[in-house]
Amino acid sequence: MKVTIDKNAGFCWGVVRTIAVAEESLKERPKVYCLGDIIHNTEEVARLKKLGLDTVTVNDFPNLKKGSTILIRAHGEPPETYKKALEYGLELIDATCPIVTRVQERVRKFVTQGYQIVIFGKKTHAEVVGINGVTGGTAIVVLNKEEALAAVDFKQPTVLFAQTTMDKQEFKDLAAALKEKLDTLIIGSMEETAVEYQAKDTICGQVSGRESKLRQFAAENDIIIFTAGRKSSNGKVLYNICKEVNERTYFAETKEEIDWSWFEGAETIGITGATSTPQWAMRQIKTLIDLKFGITDDQPEAESLTEAEEPEEIAAEIAAEAAQKREKEKVL
Ligand code: SF4
Repeated sequence: MKVTIDKNAGFCWGVVRTIAVAEESLKERPKVYCLGDIIHNTEEVARLKKLGLDTVTVNDFPNLKKGSTILIRAHGEPPETYKKALEYGLELIDATCPIVTRVQERVRKFVTQGYQIVIFGKKTHAEVVGINGVTGGTAIVVLNKEEALAAVDFKQPTVLFAQTTMDKQEFKDLAAALKEKLDTLIIGSMEETAVEYQAKDTICGQVSGRESKLRQFAAENDIIIFTAGRKSSNGKVLYNICKEVNERTYFAETKEEIDWSWFEGAETIGITGATSTPQWAMRQIKTLIDLKFGITDDQPEAESLTEAEEPEEIAAEIAAEAAQKREKEKVL
């Protein structure tokens, strides 16, 4: 039997960055309060709790000591949260993933221009709550094209965005369905006035880029153990991709959920997970399987590619900002 950890699985760049910010801030303070679980992974939350990171909600603000430190996790927060923290005299550390911040900025720009905002995502997901907060809660949040077709006002200029962890193909289908409906309405209209419609694919490259590699990994192994937090929406998307390719894909939030009947007749076992799954959690599962089946040929420790990479889009943005700054300095 051969057990392999997927080297492409594990924390995405945004999550690594957020955890690094949390760990750094805890070196200077005994206690930091994170708004919501820092990551959809109970074991990682427990590890950071031992270092002094507690999870709170905005409703806890009145009960916190003035000057307490609040960490904003990778999902981001609505503008209202920043105002409230200020009101209660709390210190804020903003560890919002820069990709999410960029989506918020783009949404803000379209809101200012009077567009109807449609978000393909989960209404209650923290990232969507944050993005919708930028619109003052006026965005239409939909989970599929049927919901979008029923809710969108086709007389208004409209722009479609996506929660960064949604499925790319579903986004494309939804974007096409809105366009098609709009085209039909224009053809039927006497005035032939085209209502403006734009679709902005804001699905994170760190998530969508993993899809093809994950498909390959799922196909290469007899069974797949997929480990992630049950609350992780990115986990659900990636799990479904594995399951589509390999029927024998099993979900386990922790190593305790492993069922040994899954392994019947399997020669190759693949362990993978979501962008919120720590590499150490996958290694724990591998060790458990190795011990159970007496496997001694150890796979060299795989470095997670996603843990090391900075997304190209962010690197390019940082480079462009630096170039702009240099130009400005030249002028001055
Ligand atoms: S999945 Fe992408 S947008 Fe979300 S936290 Fe990770 S890097 Fe940021």
